[in-house]
Amino acid sequence: NPGLQDKKHTNEDLNEFRKIKINSEINININHKVSIFKGDITKLEVDAIVNAANSRLIAGGGVDGAIHRAAGPMLQAECNTLGGCPTGEARITCGYNLPASYVIHTVGPQNGSAPNLKSCYENCFALLKQYQLKTIAFPCISTGIYGFPNRLAAHIALRSARKFLEDNKDVNRVIFCTFMPIDVDIYETLMQMYFPVH
Ligand code: ADP
Repeated sequence: NPGLQDKKHTNEDLNEFRKIKINSEINININHKVSIFKGDITKLEVDAIVNAANSRLIAGGGVDGAIHRAAGPMLQAECNTLGGCPTGEARITCGYNLPASYVIHTVGPQNGSAPNLKSCYENCFALLKQYQLKTIAFPCISTGIYGFPNRLAAHIALRSARKFLEDNKDVNRVIFCTFMPIDVDIYETLMQMYFPVH
C-alpha cells in the first residue's frame, strides 16, 4: 500500500488505522463515494448536512451558527420541538432555506471522549439510512469550540464512514467538509489510508 509509506503518517495514524481491515474488493466500490470539500458546509446541495450542535439544540457559534443563519428562523423553531439532544446522539430536521434538504444535528463530546464522537457519526449514518438519503456532508464535529484533537477526530470520522459504506450500498456520497487549514491537511493525508486508490 503506497499510502502507508507516506512520511506524513505518524505512528498514531498507523495505530488508529490498524483498527480497520481494508477489503480491497469492497474498496473499489466505495472509494469513489467519499470526498473532501474545503469551505462552508451551508453551500452544499446534498440530501443532508450535519450540524455540530449543542445539547439544547439552540443556535450557537461556529458551524451551528452558520447553519442556522443560512437556514432561517424556521430551523430553530423545529429544533425547539425536539426537546434537545444528548451527547453522541443525533436528530433530523428539514433544511429550510439551505440547499440541503435535511439537517442532521449531532452533539459532539466536550471532554474528548472518542466513543462519544464515534457514536455521533454512527447515529448520523443511522438517520441517513432510516430516511433513505443518499448524500451527506459532515463538518469536523467537536474539533472547534469543543476542543477534540483534530487528528483523532478525523480517524474516527473516516473509520465510521468506511464501515458504513461497506455495509450500505445505497449511500453514494459522503463529503468531509473541512474548514480549518489543519483539517484540510489531516483529511488529505488520512483519506489515502482509509480509502486507498490502487
Ligand atoms: P464544536 O462545538 O462541535 O467543536 P464548532 O462549530 O466550534 O463545533 O467547530 C466544528 C468545526 O466546524 C470546526 O472545524 C470549525 O472551523 C468548522 N466550521 C465553522 N464554520 C463552518 C462552516 N460554515 N462550514 C463548515 N465548517 C465550519
